[in-house]
Amino acid sequence: PTQTLPEMMAASVRSFGRRPALEFFGAVTSYRELGDQIERAAEGLRRLGVGAGDRVALVLPNCPAHVVAFYAILRLGAIVVEHNPLYTARELRHQFEDHGARVAIVWDKVADTVAGFPADLTVEHIVSVDLTAAMPLSKRLLLRLPVPKARESRGKLTATPKAHHLTPWKKLVDHRRLSRRIPGPTLHDTALLQYTSGTTGVPKGAILTHANLRANAMQGRAWVPGLVDGEETFYGVLPLFHAYGMTLCLTFAMSIGAKLVLFPTFDLGLVTAAARTSPPTFLPAVPPIYDQLARAAARGTIDLSTVRFAISGAMSLPVATVQRWEEATGGLLVEGYGMTESSPVALGNPMGPTRRPGTVGVPFPSTEIRVVDPSDTDVDVPAGERGELLIRGPQVFQGYWGRRGETADVLLADGWLRTGDIAEVSADGFVTIVDRLKELIITGGFNVSPSEVEDALEAHPDIVAAAVVGLPRSNGGEEVAAAVVLREGAELDAGALRDFCRTRLTPYKVPKRIVVVDDLPRSLIGKVLRRQVRERLLEGR
Ligand code: ATP
Ligand code: MG
Repeated sequence: PTQTLPEMMAASVRSFGRRPALEFFGAVTSYRELGDQIERAAEGLRRLGVGAGDRVALVLPNCPAHVVAFYAILRLGAIVVEHNPLYTARELRHQFEDHGARVAIVWDKVADTVAGFPADLTVEHIVSVDLTAAMPLSKRLLLRLPVPKARESRGKLTATPKAHHLTPWKKLVDHRRLSRRIPGPTLHDTALLQYTSGTTGVPKGAILTHANLRANAMQGRAWVPGLVDGEETFYGVLPLFHAYGMTLCLTFAMSIGAKLVLFPTFDLGLVTAAARTSPPTFLPAVPPIYDQLARAAARGTIDLSTVRFAISGAMSLPVATVQRWEEATGGLLVEGYGMTESSPVALGNPMGPTRRPGTVGVPFPSTEIRVVDPSDTDVDVPAGERGELLIRGPQVFQGYWGRRGETADVLLADGWLRTGDIAEVSADGFVTIVDRLKELIITGGFNVSPSEVEDALEAHPDIVAAAVVGLPRSNGGEEVAAAVVLREGAELDAGALRDFCRTRLTPYKVPKRIVVVDDLPRSLIGKVLRRQVRERLLEGR
């Protein structure tokens, strides 16, 4: 890449001027208007003292102000720190302690929470965003977002509250444009602190530069050559505060002059209504969303025949979902793979007949991979065998904020990133993700891959979903345990289910314990949180 993110945005404002950049509940913002708001917000932030290298926290659902704030912060050479606005007060406070931002731009529903942080936290200025202000009057009733349970530990948090300066968003953008003389960032400056999903532990802040993020948007462009500059409509149903939505919806859309339709949350009704007036052409999402949309399309309640490219990532994509989607819409659904630490995309299936469902495809342009022995990353496993996946490329991050040890664990001296995922590469180079290394179960000296056991359980007609984990045994090993969600009306016959598993799995892989649950715990983006499943099963033992 040669341009930083704000330079790329300025170029798009020049090229796509009057074309729509954003749409939110039917309200459209053109590229020119967006560029103007970014420059004004940048001036507003400058007056709050924001400058190069400062962290500015965003605690926002998808909305136009999120996009304006993102680019305004970057224009000043400052660093965007994204947060999940549905996180609890405790989770948010940990992240604020970690990054130490002085200015926070937040959804008005969480302003109290941030204002209630203890006085030793660094936040001084809170800019609060009213989501409904950006919506046409007639649509305001449509917005039914869950308000976070942010007050659970409020009593403790407000022990020594501090006086904050509160600015409404409207006032922040009510300035003249930032002077052109204020220098912007350079390519190798940090643009974003992006927290990981926290699936395996506490979320860690991944340091991503302008070069990292631009590289990934450009690699994405090469991945989907069929897109036409200035003509596409992207649907932003994924949260922009997660690496996946941030690159594949936001920076990607802005770099090709697409219209980005923003949804504060995924809701079938909202998407159905939007599709009538702004038909989507490009849709990045996750398997549970594709399942819901494909069912609605098959019923004929939504027309998705305009979606030429649908991209799935963040978790494995069932082949059945691909078939369902492609039959219902006539478009392609292909799977990619990535992680926050690689901006995020590193591998993808070809966008055409050579893609291979069930795999995550091949390395992105200028991306190299290796499959190594997890106990000695210098040793590559023999071709076709399983090992830990390493990746190297221009999208690989700089390290975790304030966590040198953990950075050294995953970022090897020669630029290789340890993914922590086990992979297998076919003779012609297609990669299959097997499981996370940390989630492998060791029982009686054998390795059991939880997803293999889950697949076996889910093949049973009475099982809707399954999560498999290892529980500690007194002899130091682990036993295979499963939490299953049953189809309505079905009853668990553990013995029969184990017999069924034995037809597909060697005996040591068959779960010793099977527990019925109403639902599996999932992250906001829909990943099953095996760590929480394990905790629940341990409690119930
Ligand atoms: P944490 O690192 O905090 O434990 P996380 O790894 O879930 O959380 P992300 O960076 O959002 O945080 O997710 C990256 C991980 O998601 C990958 O390491 C991989 O395990 C999983 N993943 C991504 N794409 C796929 C895919 N197509 N198939 C299977 N797993 C995937
Ligand atoms: Mg991770």
